[in-house]
Amino acid sequence: MLEASRRYFHQAADLLDLSPKVREILLTPVRVVKVEIVEEDDAGSLTHFRGYRVQHNNARGPFKGGLRYHPSMDEDHAAALASLMTWKTAVIDVPYGGAKGGIDCDPRQMSRFELERVTRSFVERLNDLIGPTVDIPAPDVNTNADVMAWIMDEYSRHHGFSPGVVTGKPLHLFGSEGREEATGRGVTYALDEALREQGRKLAGTSVALQGFGNVGSHAARLIAERGGRIVAVADHAGGVANEAGLDLPALRSWAGERGSVAGFGGGDAFDGSEIIGWPADVLIPAALEDAIHGENADRVRAEIVVEAANGPTTPEADAILRRKGVQVVPDILANAGGVCVSYFEWAQNIQQFRWELERVQAELEKSMRRACASVREVAKDRGCDLRTAAFVLGIQRVGRAALSRRSVHERIDLDGRR
Ligand code: NAD
Repeated sequence: MLEASRRYFHQAADLLDLSPKVREILLTPVRVVKVEIVEEDDAGSLTHFRGYRVQHNNARGPFKGGLRYHPSMDEDHAAALASLMTWKTAVIDVPYGGAKGGIDCDPRQMSRFELERVTRSFVERLNDLIGPTVDIPAPDVNTNADVMAWIMDEYSRHHGFSPGVVTGKPLHLFGSEGREEATGRGVTYALDEALREQGRKLAGTSVALQGFGNVGSHAARLIAERGGRIVAVADHAGGVANEAGLDLPALRSWAGERGSVAGFGGGDAFDGSEIIGWPADVLIPAALEDAIHGENADRVRAEIVVEAANGPTTPEADAILRRKGVQVVPDILANAGGVCVSYFEWAQNIQQFRWELERVQAELEKSMRRACASVREVAKDRGCDLRTAAFVLGIQRVGRAALSRRSVHERIDLDGRR
């Protein structure tokens, strides 16, 4: 994944004619932290986990990015996802840099108490390196408001009451209205903008969705509320399809109880891997990285792919999709709604002031639509695809801030006109 994120960076850096020196400055993380966590499980046996935090860039503000609990979590994953956060916060134009981290544990195999102990140990080892003006974690795959509450509590034990140290907290514990659904809501605006550009509407559009967790389930609900049809959903355990449109409240409660959409009675079961080639107008990968790769990209039948997940398309697949004329709305634009409302939550924490849901939603919509328009403008100006345009925009904004903050000897023009 690190390789892929660098390939995308270099594609944009080539367009900007950036020198190797500037590329090196922008690509190198500020800090890479690895911690070892040895904890007793509920049965008294010792378990050993590794935790990571990569702080990539803070030229535009404190480091910001999610925490992922997944057995595949490692330094490379954290580094790739951290750099994507740097470009994403710049594209959506919130005053943050980029970071990412997590633990190589499998929450599905752990009790709530085990999860809490491991989270607290992680924060204990990391507490000097995070903070409301330093680095602000948030939820990602397999982490949620409960985990954020433990992080806030553990950090506050060391540093005093600090709700602004994490975002995505429970509403009753300094969270923000609208944060939980924010990424999915942002995905809906990004899709709406992509359709509008093609003179089409969300109403009547059919959508195939991979991943039905926080991001996928909210995106599905909001798309259906606007008249879109969710015709197929797949997750780690299987898929379910209904050409007339799945009953999403029922699917949500099924998946909530069983941890998967598999076996849901309101549609036909299918092998989850088929979702990538599903016959629908739109494909939304909202699970893990590398979902669309060199071997299956040719099977994509959707005309628009909206990357709700981080890094769901490999560079090989990206080239195939471009050749096929599939419009790809890139992750660093499409899923930026989450960090946008994280910023609103943090701002509320710092001001000790609460925003109403309507305000959060209106500001999110404004930010998402503005970011979509800015990326499209760059794409038109430079004659490039949306991913390259989003990277160009992100790199320009971060690059300008970085260059203003340090005295580099080389002067460069980030508009690419030397
Ligand atoms: P989540 O843990 O709530 O849900 C993940 C979903 O992916 C689940 O439905 C799971 O079954 C599915 N999944 C896991 N492995 C799969 C596989 N091999 N095949 C098919 N489906 C699989 O996670 P989330 O918070 O919804 O995050 C999903 C994606 O969105 C991730 O890439 C994450 O980085 C990205 N993202 C999340 C946020 C956020 O606010 N939570 C913000 C921006 C981006």
